[in-house]
Amino acid sequence: QHITIAIDGFSSCGKSTLAKALAKKMNYTFIDSGAMYRCVALYAIQNGCALGAHKINLTCVVNSLPQIHIQFGEADELGNRPVLLNGEDVSHAIRQLEVANIVSEVAAIREVREFLVEQQQELGKNGGVVMDGRDIGTVVFPHAELKLFITAKPEIRAQRRFLELQAKGEINSLGEILENLKHRDRIDSTRAISPLTQAKDALVVDNSEMSETEQLEYVMNLVKN
Ligand code: C5P
Repeated sequence: QHITIAIDGFSSCGKSTLAKALAKKMNYTFIDSGAMYRCVALYAIQNGCALGAHKINLTCVVNSLPQIHIQFGEADELGNRPVLLNGEDVSHAIRQLEVANIVSEVAAIREVREFLVEQQQELGKNGGVVMDGRDIGTVVFPHAELKLFITAKPEIRAQRRFLELQAKGEINSLGEILENLKHRDRIDSTRAISPLTQAKDALVVDNSEMSETEQLEYVMNLVKN
């Protein structure tokens, strides 16, 4: 039967990498919920709702929600799915640090979360889904059959993100990236609505010392049991 797999954890813990690999292996649908929050943040920037790093005009963001239409395209051989914002491919644009620098503020807005959670639940209503984010096991799919909570040491996470951005031609310093990760982790775990917490029935996976293959193998064993 088709189950629902919820993957939560701090920023840059390799949640999406794991989710993509799992979805591919199980022939499931991968959904990156963070990409949806990033789309709202990107739209906020384009629409003049961003007032610089970590600052947004709340009313402006809330008012723009009805104009935001998010879709995911077909997965490529690596499991990556293009992200479309109002029909335009923003897969690359949403990964910029400028977006990362306001996304947690955007994601702390109740109306934004209600808007996106409803769409996420709709996307996953038939099961056979691997969704990663911050509140998937707690809010979006509280009845998911398998819940994972991924962690890794902050320095290792910053290093991984650094290499990932570098590969895409984005040059940011390691310090700048580490600052952004710590900032987002703090906002994400202390916000008033759906703060990042471990679901009671989630299994914790610390992948600091695991390769991607080791992690996938480890989780595939959990799925089988
Ligand atoms: O997963 P990713 O790092 O791309 O997510 C970007 C941001 O979106 C997170 O830092 C968090 O503020 C927000 N987010 C969230 N709930 C989710 C997924 C992401 O609040 N389910």
